[in-house]
Amino acid sequence: MENCLFCKIAAGTIPSDKVYEDNELLVFKDISPIAPVHLLLIPKKHISTLSDCTDHETGLLGKMLALVPKLAEQHGCSVKSDNKGSPYGGYKTLINSGPDGGQEVYHLHIHLIGGTKPWSK
Ligand code: 5GP
Ligand code: ZN
Repeated sequence: MENCLFCKIAAGTIPSDKVYEDNELLVFKDISPIAPVHLLLIPKKHISTLSDCTDHETGLLGKMLALVPKLAEQHGCSVKSDNKGSPYGGYKTLINSGPDGGQEVYHLHIHLIGGTKPWSK
């Protein structure tokens, strides 16, 4: 879509620090990270918000969500277990939707935010 920042990033006309790409998805580093790991997962096709998704996007959304733990593993913020089986590590996944949801860029994206509870600072 014309004048959409993330469509331009998907098309390569605006540069980004890419960490993953396939035929449907692109993942790149957030330009203003709020944590040691802050990635944005986007579909290459333009969808403005989560509320614009229909049953047609179920597969795409599932693919995006299933990619999150793989990226977390690659970027050192996966959920691990200590020798007593207690979990440690981890990350936050976030989809801001609409003005009241704090969405700034109107091209669907999932934030993957990893670090030591960066959201509590
Ligand atoms: P939202 O508030 O819409 O959920 O998140 C938009 C995110 O996009 C913000 O975290 C912001 O830092 C990021 N962002 C905005 N412009 C750019 C850009 O040009 N490049 C990259 N890599 N990230 C951007
Ligand atoms: Zn777009």
